[in-house]
Amino acid sequence: MTDSASFSADASVLYRDTAHNKATPTRVGILGGGTAGSTIAIRLAALGIETHLFEQKNSLIDGPPMCHLHAGGNLYREIPDEDCVALLKQCIDILRLYPYTIDVRPTVFAVPTRDEGQPEDLLPRLDKLTTAYRELIEEDELNKVLGEPEDYYQLYSHEQLLALAECEQVAVPRSIDEWMIPVAKYLDLNKIKYPLIVVQEYGWNIFRLAASATLALDAYDHTHVYTKTTVKKVSDNTPTADSHAPVLDTHATPRWRIDYQAKDGSKDYVDVDYLVNACGFETGIIDDMVGVDVTRMVEFKSSYITHWGQAGGQIPEIIIYGVRGTPEGMAQLTPYPDGYFQIHGMSKFITLFEDGLVASSKDSAQPVLPEQYLHYIKDGWDKAPLQARSQQAIDYVSEFVPTFNSARTVGNALYGAQQIPGEDDTLRVADVCLYTDKCYARAENVKASSTLLAADEIVGELQKLQLIDQDLPANRDRYAHEWEYLVHTDEGTVDAVAHSLASERGFPTAMAKVNHSLRELSLASLTPFAG
Ligand SMILES: Cc1cc2nc3c(=O)[nH]c(=O)nc-3n(C[C@H](O)[C@H](O)[C@H](O)COP(=O)(O)OP(=O)(O)OC[C@H]3O[C@@H](n4cnc5c(N)ncnc54)[C@H](O)[C@@H]3O)c2cc1C
Repeated sequence: MTDSASFSADASVLYRDTAHNKATPTRVGILGGGTAGSTIAIRLAALGIETHLFEQKNSLIDGPPMCHLHAGGNLYREIPDEDCVALLKQCIDILRLYPYTIDVRPTVFAVPTRDEGQPEDLLPRLDKLTTAYRELIEEDELNKVLGEPEDYYQLYSHEQLLALAECEQVAVPRSIDEWMIPVAKYLDLNKIKYPLIVVQEYGWNIFRLAASATLALDAYDHTHVYTKTTVKKVSDNTPTADSHAPVLDTHATPRWRIDYQAKDGSKDYVDVDYLVNACGFETGIIDDMVGVDVTRMVEFKSSYITHWGQAGGQIPEIIIYGVRGTPEGMAQLTPYPDGYFQIHGMSKFITLFEDGLVASSKDSAQPVLPEQYLHYIKDGWDKAPLQARSQQAIDYVSEFVPTFNSARTVGNALYGAQQIPGEDDTLRVADVCLYTDKCYARAENVKASSTLLAADEIVGELQKLQLIDQDLPANRDRYAHEWEYLVHTDEGTVDAVAHSLASERGFPTAMAKVNHSLRELSLASLTPFAG
């Protein structure tokens, strides 16, 4: 608990009456301290709910990564426009909740000449997104976190890029043209179709996200975070019809018992009124304990960390479109400070795996991944395949950024398995599944940005179940002010915690920094690329 920042529950608002007329706090158990569990915990903490958050790893948010804030979903040509607008809204909310986690730099989207699509195909959607962004700002000026709506996307012709290629690269780009100088210099301009599209989709840093969530939760004395702690069992306290147990008072008796074990071997349990399953790709294990039928998939994916000394300064993220799963799937070059780059390649030689997508069965809600990938998740990558895939990733990007062939592998990957609810593996927008009669919710975000929406729906459910008041001011005003924890957390504190998390996890500490922070560019009214 940080001394300066400690918020506690206001008993008059947050405590409910039991059948015995005894004031009892509503308790929520959250299993899994990834992005979903941690964000839901922050949302509930802000309402004063007594929350128990369990994470088996040493620290929060150390699962499958995120590097891209999908503020418009433009990486995915195949998803419906309305999903893109939903992603835009979610990302703006997330950016307001976690402002110190964002690297403010644009993303370049290139359609390669070998691709059947045309850049123009994307323009109607980009116009819809611009309109949606403008409307969100009209609703609330604080939503203006991606710059001016008219700058949301821009187009560059071949001629403009040839001219920019002659300009000198600047150390700290301040305008879109300045960002585009290195793109014009390094991208093979003969291998792409025009116009080239640039969008205000920013970078999202996992180390800074883990640090921000940790600091936020640390500030609430009614939130209990158990790291290095595995939930072993959940049991429904409700007596069954044929049970001989005395009938429990459902208001006075907590609904769920959570049995857990810490890494030091100690065991204990807590009782809670409401259970949130946020176990990521392992949510099916808890679903099986709870006894709900679910159809889902789980996919193992990996991205690779490389170092490129010749970037000559900061560059935007570069996306080369391609058809997922083919040898020419999308390539994604994501910049970090000090010459580090994260690479995705949506082919089965790089990010995807031949047998990496598995589905649940009629006997279990938990899809079973091949042993090899479970071993990578638990113990880390084996050196030889990691080196081979990292080099393939460098070669993949070099086809379009030829000088990137001088990049070197650094023996590191950001990877993991993610759940995809249902049977459609192109789904990118999903948030939560609610089981009102069971006082149970399962977070099922495919993208990390959907987590706040999941939290909102859980709050609605707690109100419906009368576990919290209908009309809490903190709930009513979620969008009307900034998050309380931000008042007590600054960029420097996030820097320090993110730095030590990167180091503990074996990553270059430069990756815990961002090139362009929101703070640098003024939080409330960002005009990051205005000349
Ligand atoms: C390679 C890759 C790249 C990605 N890139 C992006 C991106 O750029 N942008 C984006 O938005 N999304 C991205 N994603 C998706 C994103 O990573 C996921 O949406 C997100 O991490 C899911 O968060 P979660 O909290 O639901 O699950 P997780 O992060 O998996 O968290 C679940 C947690 O539960 C814990 N847990 C499980 N069982 C137990 C138990 N019994 N007891 C205690 N703890 C338990 C686990 O240890 C884990 O920490 C990417 C995914 C991958 C694989």
